Amino acid sequence: MTIFQVGVGSGGIVVLDLVMREPTVRKIVLVEPDVYKSHNVHRHLFPPSDVGQLKVKLAAEWVRRFRPDVEVVPLAVDVTDPIHQAELYSHVAVCDLGVCAVDSESAKYHIDAMMRKHRKPWTMGEVLSGGIGGWVHRFVPGGACYGCLASHLQRAMPTDNTPPPADYADPNATRPETAIPASRASISVIASLQALTSLELVAGKEAGFSSLLLSLAVADGIFTEALRPYRFRIARTPGCLVCGVDQDDGLSGEQLDVALDQALARLAHE
Ligand SMILES: [Zn+2]
Repeated sequence: MTIFQVGVGSGGIVVLDLVMREPTVRKIVLVEPDVYKSHNVHRHLFPPSDVGQLKVKLAAEWVRRFRPDVEVVPLAVDVTDPIHQAELYSHVAVCDLGVCAVDSESAKYHIDAMMRKHRKPWTMGEVLSGGIGGWVHRFVPGGACYGCLASHLQRAMPTDNTPPPADYADPNATRPETAIPASRASISVIASLQALTSLELVAGKEAGFSSLLLSLAVADGIFTEALRPYRFRIARTPGCLVCGVDQDDGLSGEQLDVALDQALARLAHE
C-alpha cells in the first residue's frame, strides 16, 4: 500500500516509524518543508548532529534504514503551496491512506480537501498543549470533513468547567496554559494511537469513533481523570461550507477554493 504523509515533526515521525513497519507498506510519500533545528532534538528521533538538514530527508533516510524495500518520495514543500499542487494531487490520487501530522489549521483544511477530492481515508493526530491529552481523528470518504469536525467540536464545547473544554479542541489555542510544550512521551502516545488507527482504517476495520480524545493527565477544570478516552461519532453536517456542496461528485477546483476561503475566513473571525 501507499501512504501519503504530511508532517514529520515530533509526532509525525512516530506515526511514520510505526506505520512503515507494516509489510504491506510499499511506498511512502512524505511532505515536510521544515529544517531540523536544535530545539527539535529533545522531542525527536534524530540526533543533534542532524541539525540543519531537511526533516523530510532525515525521515526518508530513517525509513530506508529499516525498510530498504519501500519506495520513499521525500517532498520538501509546503502542502498548501499552489506551485506544487499538481504534483501533490498526483500522489494523493494513487495513495491508499493519508496521514496528517501538522499543526497549521490552513494545512489541515487543505489536506482534507485533497483527500476528499480523491475519496481517500486519512487520519489526523493532535496533541493538546502541555501534553495533557490528545485527539486522533479518522476520516472516511463521504463522512464528516475537517470543517464538520471543527464546527461540531466547537458547538459541543461546554463552557468553563465541563470537559472537554473549547480551547483544548484547538491545539493552536491561545490560552496561556496551552502554550506549555508537550513531553516526548505524551506526543508519542497520541502518535502511536494515530498509527494504530491509521492501520485499522486502511484495513477497513470499524473503530467505533470518528474522533477519539484521550486524557493523559489530570488537568484542572479539563480532565478529572488521566488515561480516559472520550469517543465521538461526528456525522457530516448537511450545511457544511466545506463538504456540503455537491458531495456526490466532489467539489470542482473553484468550489474547493471558495469553500476553503470561507472556512479560513470563519476561523480568522473566531
Ligand atoms: Zn464538512
